[in-house]
Amino acid sequence: MEQNPNEESQKDQNPTEQSQVEQGPTEQSQNRQDQAEQISRKHVVAGNWKMFKTRDEAQATVREVVGLVGNIQNVDIVVCPPFTALGAVEEILTGSVVQLGAQNVHWQDEGAFTGEVSVSMLADYGCSHVIIGHSERRHYFQESDEVIQGKLEKVFSTELTPILCIGESLEAREADRVQEVIPSQLERALRELTDPQTSRIIIAYEPVWAIGTGRTATPELAEKVHFLIRSWLSDHSSVGVADQVRILYGGSVTPENAGQLIEQKNIDGFLVGGASLDAQSFAKIVQQSA
Ligand code: PEP
Repeated sequence: MEQNPNEESQKDQNPTEQSQVEQGPTEQSQNRQDQAEQISRKHVVAGNWKMFKTRDEAQATVREVVGLVGNIQNVDIVVCPPFTALGAVEEILTGSVVQLGAQNVHWQDEGAFTGEVSVSMLADYGCSHVIIGHSERRHYFQESDEVIQGKLEKVFSTELTPILCIGESLEAREADRVQEVIPSQLERALRELTDPQTSRIIIAYEPVWAIGTGRTATPELAEKVHFLIRSWLSDHSSVGVADQVRILYGGSVTPENAGQLIEQKNIDGFLVGGASLDAQSFAKIVQQSA
């Protein structure tokens, strides 16, 4: 697997965070975790359709999704079709609980940026969410952490909710560098945000080696990184902010593995790629998260 180029320069390391991943929670962080157990965060299940589905195919899928999960109120359900199908999907979703998201956005309001789409264009289609910094954007389109930070700032000038993707490459995982890569990605993306902005963000932990590979993180492994993310938020914002942020897991989530993953304390839902293309599979993942 090729390495995500963004991770190469990420060398800021916090020894406390490192030891938490390797040795488990400290007493202080365990207290924080115990408090967090009292907090209930509404689960989120978002489907990232990537570059799949024409308008007709998108409408057929989303009609089925609404039929299957349209009565579920305790999960935020989001579908993220390609830009070309946003209008077609919006027509079907109007009046349903299923929300509409986009897969990307530009950091400027408007201008000579051929091929790009702005926040107001997404709002015009009724989008409530937008994915920022997906590993495929970072890798294939060289999106740097600075670009991702600019996009987040722009999104926060609107009502859109960003789904920020972070995650380590296989090389970083094998070199035992998760505890430096994840805090570094968080620091670079979130450092300019205020606490109210940070509390509104949805973070998707998506280990690059698990995306589209059929190789899922074990629930324990995913939970360790989700705990690391929440601890980082607590240290860099506040316990209150950390308790509010929904942290999704992404990477080969299926109806078969979703049940065990969602039982973890710090996993608040999923960002689903391949399995979200099929309405039945997506609906089963939503149902297991309800
Ligand atoms: C994704 O695209 O965000 C993703 C997690 O894909 P998949 O579920 O196919 O691994």
